[in-house]
Amino acid sequence: MTNKGLLIVVSGPSGTGKGTICKQLLNAVSDLKLSVSATTRAPRADESQGVNYSFIDKQQFETMINEHELLEYAKVYDNFYGTPKKYVVDEINKGNDVLLEIDIQGALQVKEKYPEGVFVFILPPSMKELKKRIVSRGSETEDSLNKRYKSATEEISFVREYNYLIINDEVDMAVEKLKAIISAEKCKITEDVEEVITKFKEEMKC
Ligand code: ADP
Ligand code: 5GP
Repeated sequence: MTNKGLLIVVSGPSGTGKGTICKQLLNAVSDLKLSVSATTRAPRADESQGVNYSFIDKQQFETMINEHELLEYAKVYDNFYGTPKKYVVDEINKGNDVLLEIDIQGALQVKEKYPEGVFVFILPPSMKELKKRIVSRGSETEDSLNKRYKSATEEISFVREYNYLIINDEVDMAVEKLKAIISAEKCKITEDVEEVITKFKEEMKC
């Protein structure tokens, strides 16, 4: 059917397991492309330049905004994060599926510009488990942890704006669900079905 790839947008509160799920999904689905975001946040101990993020300073980020190089951007917990537009557009047009792991403000901007995207919200099994996961990751200061936890309670109501909800109880199961969503989306009937009908009608004439 359509030659365009899917744009899969994954969001949810910090610590819910988005990064863990996306990493496992990317290992399992070899032709899925990850959009590497730009951020003004400092790298964590296990992160590297160009792999987890493109780590840039505020001035470079402002230049990207002014040059309209970002598909979306947002200030999340005191730092800026944004999706470079060119990579996403090029890959989708080549027919490749692209994964964005971005916050809710960003996802809503993408939905506005590209409503045919697939919007997936990830939640933890409980708020208690969420706090445990953020603490266990050991990446946040007390202040940052509290900000993330407080934001989570406000973010949950935005689940209504998404197409799918996955409760990340067990990582393997959550990844399987995400794979199933992608498979289902690929079978969805769109206006491109006309091409399929024409092809079959042509074949019947022979
Ligand atoms: P996010 O990207 O949403 O901020 P992470 O993927 O960094 O979240 O996960 C936060 C922490 O929770 C990590 O330490 C990760 O190993 C752990 N985690 C993720 N998913 C699960 C799960 N299903 N069960 C238990 N721990 C999990
Ligand atoms: P972290 O600092 O934990 O890596 O990410 C903090 C938040 O920023 C997460 O909710 C993550 O999904 C979000 N984020 C990462 N990249 C982007 C991006 O390009 N745009 C937006 N809007 N949010 C992003």
